[in-house]
Amino acid sequence: MNWSAETYSRFKVSFVKGENCYLWDKNGKKYLDMLSGIGVCNLGHANPQVAQAICEQAKTLIHTSNLFEIEVQDTLARMICENSFGKKVFFANSGAEAVEGGLKFARKWGAERGKWKILAFENSFHGRTFGALSITGQEKHRKGFAPLLEGVEFAKFNDIDSVKKKLSKEFCAIVVEPIQGEGGVIPAEKEFLEGLKDLSEKLDILLIFDEVQTGMGRTGKLFAYQLYGVEPDIMLLAKGLGNGVPIGAVVIGERVLSAIKPGIHASTFGGNYLACRAGIEVMKQLLKENFLEEVEKKGAFLKNKLEELVREFGKPLLSVRGRGLMLGIVCSEPCKDVPAKALEEGLIINCTAGNVIRLLPPLTITYSEIELGVELLKKTLEKVWK
Ligand code: PLP
Repeated sequence: MNWSAETYSRFKVSFVKGENCYLWDKNGKKYLDMLSGIGVCNLGHANPQVAQAICEQAKTLIHTSNLFEIEVQDTLARMICENSFGKKVFFANSGAEAVEGGLKFARKWGAERGKWKILAFENSFHGRTFGALSITGQEKHRKGFAPLLEGVEFAKFNDIDSVKKKLSKEFCAIVVEPIQGEGGVIPAEKEFLEGLKDLSEKLDILLIFDEVQTGMGRTGKLFAYQLYGVEPDIMLLAKGLGNGVPIGAVVIGERVLSAIKPGIHASTFGGNYLACRAGIEVMKQLLKENFLEEVEKKGAFLKNKLEELVREFGKPLLSVRGRGLMLGIVCSEPCKDVPAKALEEGLIINCTAGNVIRLLPPLTITYSEIELGVELLKKTLEKVWK
């Protein structure tokens, strides 16, 4: 890796093949993947239907640009809208780009109303581009990039009083992750999101949910807002939407429609044939009967197993949190050495927020693979801490 820019500190492992929940490295070693490329390959690696769809599409037509109508783009947009609060969808290529689109639409909507400020949350993560970074509430990511976007303020996550103290009629949007992912797998409380919705209506502010990580079935619902029964005005998607093919989306609700006009935003690649064919295949599989119910059940099964592990193992493991198959084990000390040790055991997991072991397995994982994953995790933890 001499030529790839060193913006990442990478593990010295290189995978050459994947199949559903498993990856193989170049030495032939097999790994159980309980991270899915950070919540991307929700339907498993080399998913046969996604592979077939993109192969077919690649041989037919990959890209024409958004100067022309793209039927598959409209189909994917319709599938998302018919299964959410959405009325229209703008397609981008990544999570951060979806965030940028959402922020621009909110500013445009606000411009007609004399509103421009954006409220975001401490400990949040929205991506690395300037707009997304400006609403990311973590100094470690922001440091060295000032000045960032003007008009952004931060309140405390899960603390509605801190939101009330900040908000005024100058705000055009509140941006929140229903479950803070990179910040440590911290679910929003239902009352908190209900409180945000209430304030957004009273003060005429748009509510934006960043579902880049929580969307696409990850929590056992198609979108996490459906867990809470709180509808946003804009929802941001990426990661699992293309099962590995880069695609992002800004899902636009009724209140924002009037601001959406030709020329206000664009993306050369956004919503091209290849990405949308992948997205359509993903939607089809997520919408199959019982698929999401199974995710919920498998999530509960994994959570239970992890809670057992926490009880048996004791410190530094403290507790398990998250929803569906988006789970974190909170530790009383840093867990940065755990993922490397897990790789030795043939398990792929991640440490986030310094002390949270994050698990985002493919939603297609089986119960016996979940048991295997917990066993490998236990072996790993014994090597790190006993
Ligand atoms: N928003 C959330 C909630 C995320 O978790 C991430 C990435 O982890 C992003 C946005 C940024 O997505 P991307 O890395 O595709 O730009």
